Amino acid sequence: MNMNIVEKALEEKYGDYLVGLDIYETATSLILSRIVLNKEARNSGIGTQIMTDLINYADKNKQIIALTPSSDFGGNKNRLIQFYKRFGFKKNAGQYKHYGFKDDMLRYPRGINESKTLIKNLLREALDKTITCQNCGWSWKESESAKSDLYVCHKCGHDNSPKKSLNESVMRNDKVDAKKVADFVNFAKQYLGIDDDIKVALAFSRTPDIRTTAYYNFSIPLIKIYAKDRAIIDICRSIAHELVHHLQYLEGRLLDAIKDGEDGSPIENEANAVAGVIIRKWGKLHPEFYV
Ligand SMILES: [Zn+2]
Ligand SMILES: [Zn+2]
Repeated sequence: MNMNIVEKALEEKYGDYLVGLDIYETATSLILSRIVLNKEARNSGIGTQIMTDLINYADKNKQIIALTPSSDFGGNKNRLIQFYKRFGFKKNAGQYKHYGFKDDMLRYPRGINESKTLIKNLLREALDKTITCQNCGWSWKESESAKSDLYVCHKCGHDNSPKKSLNESVMRNDKVDAKKVADFVNFAKQYLGIDDDIKVALAFSRTPDIRTTAYYNFSIPLIKIYAKDRAIIDICRSIAHELVHHLQYLEGRLLDAIKDGEDGSPIENEANAVAGVIIRKWGKLHPEFYV
């Protein structure tokens, strides 16, 4: 809704010098879409007076002023940009970007811009962590170091790069991660004493047979695990869980797949508990997977 308050006030005060003035006003913004002075008023300081009144009004009401300098009305675009910059207008980009405005330049009311900068600085401080060398104790700030050798100690040369936690690393559809999972499958099978050639397949898209995160078919036998966007550790836990079911089947204890698969059933509790143990054993054997 156009409130028109400041436009009317400016027209009343400067009407003799104005050819056209269009300001779209809301409670939080002023869009200056057109301001044209007559020839006599140009370069006389009237434009500066009008802008001063406008920004005082905007500051008082905490309104953003938006505008797009253009040469449509005889002005020089670059000179207009310089003119508006003197009043605190910034390019609507980068840290001053406001997605609510399509206009080229914005002027944030006094106070708002300062708090934006403060929050940015606080964020930067919080993100600028200190790295301490595990070898010699020397410490440095993240911002003081180049990205490429951020973790390399400048005093003793020790590489302090954090080891990626298996807890955090998300499964990628590549050979490196497939090898990690394959190694785990062999370990879990060995631990459970399963020596048949049950297939373990990873799915990276939904197919009709993989509506949940895991699927076990004892007649092939096959375990299929949904792997997309899941942490490797969770995928391994699912595999261990289904391998326990396979063992239960081999031992003749898996009688009713639906009933036995229900949450809280003894068969299901056993699968969860044993899978947890296998994961812990695997983690102890592979401390490099845990920070
Ligand atoms: Zn060091
Ligand atoms: Zn289960």
